[in-house]
Amino acid sequence: MHVAPSTAVLSDRLDRARQSLVDSGTDVLLVSVGSDLPYLTGYEAMPLERLTMLVLPADGEATLVVPRLEAPRVITAEGLITVRPWDELEDPVAIVAGLVGRPRTAAVGDTMWARFLVDLLGRLPATRFTRSSTVMGPLRSRKDAAEIAALQAAGAAVDRIAGQLQRGEIPLIGRTEAEVSADLARRILAEGHERVNFAIVACAEHAASPHHEAGDRVIGADELVLCDFGGTMAGYCSDITRCVMTGEIPADIAEAYAALHAAEAAGVAAGVVGAACQDVDRAARRILDGAGWGQYFIHRTGHGIGMEAHEDPYMVEGNGEPIEAGNAFSVEPGVYLAGRWGLRLEDIVVATENGPLAMNSAEHSLVRVA
Ligand code: ZN
Ligand code: ZN
Ligand code: ZN
Repeated sequence: MHVAPSTAVLSDRLDRARQSLVDSGTDVLLVSVGSDLPYLTGYEAMPLERLTMLVLPADGEATLVVPRLEAPRVITAEGLITVRPWDELEDPVAIVAGLVGRPRTAAVGDTMWARFLVDLLGRLPATRFTRSSTVMGPLRSRKDAAEIAALQAAGAAVDRIAGQLQRGEIPLIGRTEAEVSADLARRILAEGHERVNFAIVACAEHAASPHHEAGDRVIGADELVLCDFGGTMAGYCSDITRCVMTGEIPADIAEAYAALHAAEAAGVAAGVVGAACQDVDRAARRILDGAGWGQYFIHRTGHGIGMEAHEDPYMVEGNGEPIEAGNAFSVEPGVYLAGRWGLRLEDIVVATENGPLAMNSAEHSLVRVA
């Protein structure tokens, strides 16, 4: 379950959100279901058709509008946020409209349900609506010490599972991808996550599809198996990819993997404070290009991670934003040969003033497990 941050932490986050609103010329922030809400209030709303919304004006008090029946679950810092329960026959959108007045611009949560936004558009015809990610992205992407500790704990948990995989303790040969995926999911929960986010198991030619859905393909001997898995632990996400071989490692796979390993290391090393996000992508891509595998690396090098499995900042060509201390992101280059095999190697890294700090330390080499 999500662990509520302290009052001091929430107070600081609300202040920084207000400053971010001022800096972006936004009058009010409206946050419904999604990760911004627990980040700012400590309260995680159920994704219901009944409206829950934090109203945070750039220069005013924060109000959390919640359905009356959910109000008992709301535990949020006393004095920081006023809770406004609404009764079954009230119109919650009218309550929100009453709280915001006539804003020129309102930033709305990226994952707010369309029905609420549509109703708000009708109520506030003169207001310009923008995406809250422009306000919240820069805030949430700078992780504090407690958030980094949570990412580290989640990373250590999936590292242990990767170790089990690499030591051959997770049976592969004779099982289907789906069976191995279910096994990984059980282990993700057993290691302390509250939620499994994904457990990709892709065998041989299926590994050439980066987000392959585990199916009834039975894993055989002398095959490559790519596993990319993660979950949410104490509110923060893990995400790791390791590949293993159920037998002899063919020369072409060994050669590609050596380049991939070097590319991943170069990407991690490039993730320093002050470098551009795209530099991480370029560093990894340069190695694969140089080794002749670049054309088979068909996606960006990484994504930010935190309360969500994918969030700002993105390590992709065209993102010239500087890496800041506290940015947490994946470095996950891959090599995908359609119809034959695919390889990926992924770690989570946090940029610090002392250099990149890896959240994962599981063995990096392509391990033979049978
Ligand atoms: Zn992954
Ligand atoms: Zn990832
Ligand atoms: Zn390595």
